Amino acid sequence: AEHDAATGWQPARIVPTGSTRAEIASGALQYGLSIFEGLKAFKTDRELRLFRPDAHAKRFAVSAKRLCMPEVPVETFINAVRALVRVDADWCPAQTGGGALYIRPTLYADESFLGVRPAQQHVFSVLLSPVDSYWDGEEHSLKLWAEREFTRAALGGVGSVKTGGNYASSLLAAKRAKERGFDQVLWLDAVKRDFLEEAGTMNVFVRIGDTVITPPLEGTILAGITRDSCLTLLREWGVPVEERPVSLTELGEAAKAGKAIEMWGTGTAAVISPIGEVAWENGSIKSTGFEVAPRLRKAIDGIHSGRDADTHGWIVSV
Ligand code: PMP
Repeated sequence: AEHDAATGWQPARIVPTGSTRAEIASGALQYGLSIFEGLKAFKTDRELRLFRPDAHAKRFAVSAKRLCMPEVPVETFINAVRALVRVDADWCPAQTGGGALYIRPTLYADESFLGVRPAQQHVFSVLLSPVDSYWDGEEHSLKLWAEREFTRAALGGVGSVKTGGNYASSLLAAKRAKERGFDQVLWLDAVKRDFLEEAGTMNVFVRIGDTVITPPLEGTILAGITRDSCLTLLREWGVPVEERPVSLTELGEAAKAGKAIEMWGTGTAAVISPIGEVAWENGSIKSTGFEVAPRLRKAIDGIHSGRDADTHGWIVSV
């Protein structure tokens, strides 16, 4: 197909999953020149709706910049998502029960070369898949393994980029955590191995007494869009919130002092997931009860489903 002279992109086309192939020598396969996003479309009785597609498009652009990939304009990103969701609207399960159409925009280098350098040819694609609620059956509170041997990201690295390598490097620790009977890894900072970072595909929040704390965005964790939505809601509700480093040591001392502790994870797939326990070689911390997490869960579900008004402009109709 012909390139558009103004944008340099070829015209979009819709093809069945499985009909595309990446070259072995592509920058994506050889050097991990690939970024992605994950967002959802929800079906109400009136419409299909996207949650904060603009925020996902902006994060996609930030990821692209860090890996020397071309910027996909926010408009192009959102239009591509909308066009494809319209085509596959019938595949979107009802929102009741947590069903949604999961949307996976990807940008990868499909130019074949062997030297390490930015690529000059890329594919921007969008993949769809119907999903159920993240947790099969009864929603349980998660047990996380606080990982002290392996780290996920260091300052100055690509921890805040949504790129495959971050997930590849997380697999061994996650496998070992599962073998120990844990659901996921709780990643700690690369220096002290004490400060909370994030968990699997979730950002983490803790409440100590009345104060909600979540680790700051310093480049080592993904700037979660659910995280941002929760911060907005909590501030509106007048809940004291702090974006600052919080450590296992601090949590342990709070527990020892008899303070209430509540921990949860946030993410597009997990929405709001209660964390019952965090454990490591010689210690553990348990949530003493869940108050704020269920409230956040209800508020976010309410906005997704249209039960509650979208007062923040987070919903975009397809
Ligand atoms: N951290 C990581 C590593 C993730 O993959 C995700 C899921 N995208 C999150 C946090 C949560 O981000 P969001 O709320 O934007 O889905």
